[in-house]
Amino acid sequence: MPRIKSVFPPEPRPTIPCGHDGCPHPAVLRRKLPGAGMVNLCRGHDLAHAQAEADEFCQEHGLTTRAAQREYRIERMRSFGGIKADPIAYWQSVLSTPNLPAISYAYANEALSALRRGKREVVEREPGEEG
Ligand SMILES: [Zn+2]
Repeated sequence: MPRIKSVFPPEPRPTIPCGHDGCPHPAVLRRKLPGAGMVNLCRGHDLAHAQAEADEFCQEHGLTTRAAQREYRIERMRSFGGIKADPIAYWQSVLSTPNLPAISYAYANEALSALRRGKREVVEREPGEEG
């Protein structure tokens, strides 16, 4: 399809300044900050606020080591359904779900055979044997 050129030139979008005094960067988003209300933030200041909030959350919840933070994250992901405890059980549940697109079954079969191949290789390997 040929590209159609508009007779009206594109209007430049207005630049919205970051809400931090003296920050030269344009805002990329607007969000609510504790104690400040809705604020326009540049990418760097948004990241700085997000990191500060994450640090505060970790302190409040006693997540002071990387291991504790990782454990907490895995537990939360599991509660969202993001991490399946057993990938084989997950792919089998896909195969037993009716009326999915054919590609879903093909992918599930492929994933299952790869998982089973990997497990068998691990099980059949002798200690000290190269994999
Ligand atoms: Zn800024």
